[in-house]
Amino acid sequence: MGFLTLEGVSKVYGGLAAVRDVDLAVARGEFVSLLGPSGCGKTTTLQMIAGLVEPTAGRIGLDGRDITREKPNRRGLGVVFQSYALFPHMTVAENVAFGLEMRKVPRAERDRRVAEMLALVHLANLAERYPRQLSGGQRQRVAIARALVIAPPVLLLDEPLSNLDAKLREEMQFELRRIQRSVGTTTIMVTHDQAEALSISDRVVVMEAGRMTQIDAPYRLYEQPATAFISTFVGKMNRLAGVWGDGGVAVAGTVLASAPADVAAGTAVTAWIRPEKLHLRPMGEGRLAGRVASRFFLGGHWLLTVGTEAGDILVSVPNTGEEPAREGEPIGLDWEPASLRVEAGAGAAA
Ligand code: ATP
Repeated sequence: MGFLTLEGVSKVYGGLAAVRDVDLAVARGEFVSLLGPSGCGKTTTLQMIAGLVEPTAGRIGLDGRDITREKPNRRGLGVVFQSYALFPHMTVAENVAFGLEMRKVPRAERDRRVAEMLALVHLANLAERYPRQLSGGQRQRVAIARALVIAPPVLLLDEPLSNLDAKLREEMQFELRRIQRSVGTTTIMVTHDQAEALSISDRVVVMEAGRMTQIDAPYRLYEQPATAFISTFVGKMNRLAGVWGDGGVAVAGTVLASAPADVAAGTAVTAWIRPEKLHLRPMGEGRLAGRVASRFFLGGHWLLTVGTEAGDILVSVPNTGEEPAREGEPIGLDWEPASLRVEAGAGAAA
């Protein structure tokens, strides 16, 4: 079904499994990110797709063909790595033309495709510059143009934006998505930046210790994280250790929610809720009393830490133009019951 498929793919390095039995089916034209902490196996997975690392087990398919043992140049995939080394002695246009020259594409067609590609990445006016005369973001776009000009079936990106400063990086995220949409190339990107993965991708694959633990659309990953790790790695999350008692789920003696039906009384549970699902109320109102411990202004919203019986709780307050409660002020916290999730197990609390 998938255009690019991984079936039971593993990579073992001297007894250590870098990638463990992963299955993934990427649709034609899809933009998929591999997201996870350092060492979880993202790059190894990408390199196996590129053909630079041979899987220990499993099968990789491309458009119905088994490419598991195929040489990288036969696969013809576009690859952009973090360092995206451009050829320093070649102009922007020559860098982009390189792959076409290698493939012996006739001059006229080559020039046409290079011009098309430079227009696409908004670099047409810099065609004759050398890499050293470009900004980081411009170099990055040359690298993307160079990878895309050969019209690869799949574009592989390994932390392509990590050398850029925060603002440029954000701009390039939009650029990358725009470029990918307009050419429709199936794209797999490795990143450890959750905001980047959520904003660009059609689907995100979260990797933990070599396994793919959730493969989902960004909003589903955020709303329904499959593991405790994902709930805190993707966005901010309050995780509160509690116990299911007679009256429901109690955290530090305060009943926060009714308990899940299948949990025995006395069982340790974890209650979790996103900061933006909590609402500030005047003291004495709401479901839980607290006192503002710290307050940060972040432009679009304020981030408050509220000390409560149940522990410190992060609260995101939208910026309405008015200041919310100050540090030291007693307040109440409220939420829609459905926003507070409860799961069995104390170990789940981060
Ligand atoms: P990062 O974000 O830090 O690049 P990653 O998620 O891309 O991390 P990988 O580079 O895929 O992780 O590495 C996964 C695991 O495999 C790590 O424990 C790493 O040390 C190990 N590993 C990777 N390449 C090799 C190799 N050539 N020989 C031995 N071990 C390796």
